[in-house]
Amino acid sequence: MDTKCKSCEELKKKIEQLEKEIVELKTHKKPKLSTKEANEHTESISSFNKCQLSNKDIERFSRQIILDEITVKGQYMLQNSSVLVVGAGGLGCPASLYLSAAGVGTLGIVDYDVVDLSNLHRQVVHTEDSIGLEKVDSIIQKLSRLNSSVKFTRHCVSLSSENALSIINEYDVVLDCTDNVATRYLLNDACVFAKKPLISGSALRFEGQFTVYNHLNGPCYRCLYPVPPPAETVTNCSDGGVIGAVTGVIGSLQALEAIKVITGNNSSYSGKLLLFDGLNGSFRNIKLREKKKDCAVCGTNPSIKILQDYEQFCGTKASDKERNLALLNRDQRITAKDFADTASKHPHILIDVRSKVEYEICSLNESINIPISDILAEKNMNNIITTVKQNHDVYFVCKRGNDSQKAVLKAIEYTKKNGHTCANKFKDLIGGLTAWSINIDNNFPLY
Ligand code: ZN
Repeated sequence: MDTKCKSCEELKKKIEQLEKEIVELKTHKKPKLSTKEANEHTESISSFNKCQLSNKDIERFSRQIILDEITVKGQYMLQNSSVLVVGAGGLGCPASLYLSAAGVGTLGIVDYDVVDLSNLHRQVVHTEDSIGLEKVDSIIQKLSRLNSSVKFTRHCVSLSSENALSIINEYDVVLDCTDNVATRYLLNDACVFAKKPLISGSALRFEGQFTVYNHLNGPCYRCLYPVPPPAETVTNCSDGGVIGAVTGVIGSLQALEAIKVITGNNSSYSGKLLLFDGLNGSFRNIKLREKKKDCAVCGTNPSIKILQDYEQFCGTKASDKERNLALLNRDQRITAKDFADTASKHPHILIDVRSKVEYEICSLNESINIPISDILAEKNMNNIITTVKQNHDVYFVCKRGNDSQKAVLKAIEYTKKNGHTCANKFKDLIGGLTAWSINIDNNFPLY
């Protein structure tokens, strides 16, 4: 082999070597790590994953985690929190929907009622196929589909002085989504004893109210209302009506406030009351009275140290369902059956004291409509007295037999005041048109 050939061979080898390097560069082949280097590399990956949230949670909650007020820490606090929603109705549905979606760890629902067709216009988590189901089961079924990671706890009971504290003690925050005064006092006192913030909402007609009690040294419900209002002056959604979207606004605000309380963002509604008027679209905040030093339950020397009989205290049932007032003696009242069998066959007038709108929905034949507001304002009273003097009996009827009792009382007061002697001619129909529909005529619509 001559010298020329030798250099050819060397050149060939060099080309092969260079080609090999090109291939390696092109495939970005990483140099093999030693065992020590490999261990260090794995450690650096696991330290990156040390945030408490799973990749799935990061993806699911990313839009709220990136907020400075929430961050990974806030999300972790939410996942380790427990919230009690009392009432799976108009307020409880939107509130629990947003709390589940936001990823609270445990959500307890208290409700003893079943889903009814008349609930669906506002209690938007329940659906037509859940009519007749317990509300707690219906709501948990739906919310589990939204977020299966939440631990749902069902409390299918009526909250009472006997069970309230043991239930509330299991939770960090309590939402009052009920619609009656007795439960409001019960929840207030129980939350003061258990040292839990109480996020309270209410909605009626086009209006809503919302505040946070017993939090950040703010007042409790009793600080503001030491005694309950007279039972006959309180109107609930069943009697007064409500727009579903208004309960949606207030329930959503309750969820938002709970999220703020849990994540350590200060509550903006401790000591402040929101008044929402859906009809003119206004939100108004008013400052509440400060916590009272002599409050019977949260004051410095409280007189109430255990839960009370709240139904007796408020003179009304701790229920969002119909309330039955007892303003008259039995002999001032008549059952639907007795009215149908005998009374209606004697000369009489039947005065329906519901609103004009309700009277339009359905009414009994031959009844006349004088709304309770007119009766209480003593309008048409002279015409009624004239009829009575013609030896007619006067029967008052309403939806359930509450306003009709007030009408009898007013008529008696008016006749006595004006020197008439026909006070015994007035009676009301026990149970109102609801009793009529159930006992006399099943075709008469219930609403
Ligand atoms: Zn108080």
